[in-house]
Amino acid sequence: MNIEKIINTIKNYDTIIIHRHVRPDPDAYGSQAGLKELIVETFPHKNVKIVGEADPSLEFLAKMEEIDDELYQEALVIVCDTANAARICDQRYNLGKKLIKIDHHPNVDEYGDLMWVDTTSSSTSEMIYDLYLYGKNDGWKLNDEAARLLYAGIVGDTGRFLFPSTSKKTFQHAAELVTYNFDRSSLYDGIYNIQDNIARMRGYILQNFKLLPSGMSTIKLTKDIMEKFNVNPTDTGQLVGVLGDIEGIKAWVFFIEETDLIRVRLRSKGPVINEIAAKYDGGGHPMAAGASVKSWEETENVIKDLQEACLAYDE
Ligand code: AMP
Repeated sequence: MNIEKIINTIKNYDTIIIHRHVRPDPDAYGSQAGLKELIVETFPHKNVKIVGEADPSLEFLAKMEEIDDELYQEALVIVCDTANAARICDQRYNLGKKLIKIDHHPNVDEYGDLMWVDTTSSSTSEMIYDLYLYGKNDGWKLNDEAARLLYAGIVGDTGRFLFPSTSKKTFQHAAELVTYNFDRSSLYDGIYNIQDNIARMRGYILQNFKLLPSGMSTIKLTKDIMEKFNVNPTDTGQLVGVLGDIEGIKAWVFFIEETDLIRVRLRSKGPVINEIAAKYDGGGHPMAAGASVKSWEETENVIKDLQEACLAYDE
């Protein structure tokens, strides 16, 4: 079983470098830094580093580390929460001696010497807790900081235990994690507090979205609109879920104008949308996916595909 092989491989390496995906979210940071804490707590002599471009909005979770290329020479590299190699943050991931992928997204891009992919898991953080449970009888130890990080990842990727990916196991893990000593209120503040400009942009979206009879909705966020609200493209991660509570909505898409491309963020409450994302060289989960297109003309094709998926969807 790969989980056992992963445990044994971790035991065998003194230097371990952990990566995650670009444009990180709480599960990317939580699984990456939570895994580090788990390893360091269990094997204090190991040199474990977490790398990737820092995201200021997630620094309340963990601080990324700067490392030289040489450190990779004898290192085990573990990539958390990243379906395809192109989205791994810090492309030095392949300089190590051995590469492990741990992820809960559909396994579209099989990379690494060892892979553990579980699409039934709500989050990669949930999987890291599985890893801990597996190693527990063998002396693996989880500390309060690891619990805080893994709990953050689970909360983030389940939309506070709301999404259908939330299973009995998710709740069981969460129930165990909250027995550790960390401040849940400040963790929620870190994840969910929004700045006033984001709140106003949310208002704009709620005032301007159009819901078609098919149950599809679209929002176009041009550079001009984002400038008006002083919001940047990365901030839109905090906005894309806002349409989920609208009665009758089945699936929606946000188009976000960036410097040389238009980012496509798809969300659904039923129709499968990662297949649409894949058509545009993107990917993701059946209910939350993303891609990029080159022009506003091309966004019309995405809208057409989403409209068809909504019309074809039988509740
Ligand atoms: P986002 O809208 O960025 O929160 O992404 C939603 C989901 O789709 C996440 O699981 C991402 O990993 C995935 N995703 C977003 N953009 C891409 C892309 N260009 N290629 C592959 N997966 C993506």
